[in-house]
Amino acid sequence: MNIDWPQLRAAAVDVAGRAYAPYSRLRVGAAGLTSDGRVVVGCNVENASFGVTLCAECGLVSALHSTPSRWPGIDSHAPSLVAVAVVAGDGDPLLPCGRCRQLLLEAGGPELLVDTASGPVPLAELLPAAFGGADLSARRDSGAAAPS
Ligand SMILES: [Zn+2]
Repeated sequence: MNIDWPQLRAAAVDVAGRAYAPYSRLRVGAAGLTSDGRVVVGCNVENASFGVTLCAECGLVSALHSTPSRWPGIDSHAPSLVAVAVVAGDGDPLLPCGRCRQLLLEAGGPELLVDTASGPVPLAELLPAAFGGADLSARRDSGAAAPS
C-alpha cells in the first residue's frame, strides 16, 4: 500500500487546528490511514479535570471504529490502521504517549507505521514487549465468576 505521508501529515496539522487545548495550549492532531484507504483523524480534547483529557490518538481510534468501511460487507472493525502521523499545531511530529501507543497497538498491530522526526517506524519499536489480547486469553481464569 502506498502511504502518502505528506497528505497524512497535512491532515494531522489540519485537525490540530480544531483541538480543544485551553490548558496546555498544545494543540495536537493525529491522522491515520486505514487498510481500506480511509484517512481518520483526531485532535486532543482537554478538560478542567485533567484526568479525563483525551489525546488526539483517542479521537482517531474512535473515528476508525465509528466510520463505515469502504469495503462492502466487511465489519467496520476489520480495517485497521496502517500509518499514523501525530503532530503539534506547528506541524512538528510528536510521538504518541504510552497510553496511546497501547491504544494504537490494538488498532493497527505492531507493524503500524508511526511517523517520527526521523521518519516512519513500526509501532513495535515504540512499544516493545507489548501487552495484548493474547495475554488476556492466555491467562484468563476459566472458572471464577465476577464478584457480586
Ligand atoms: Zn496519548
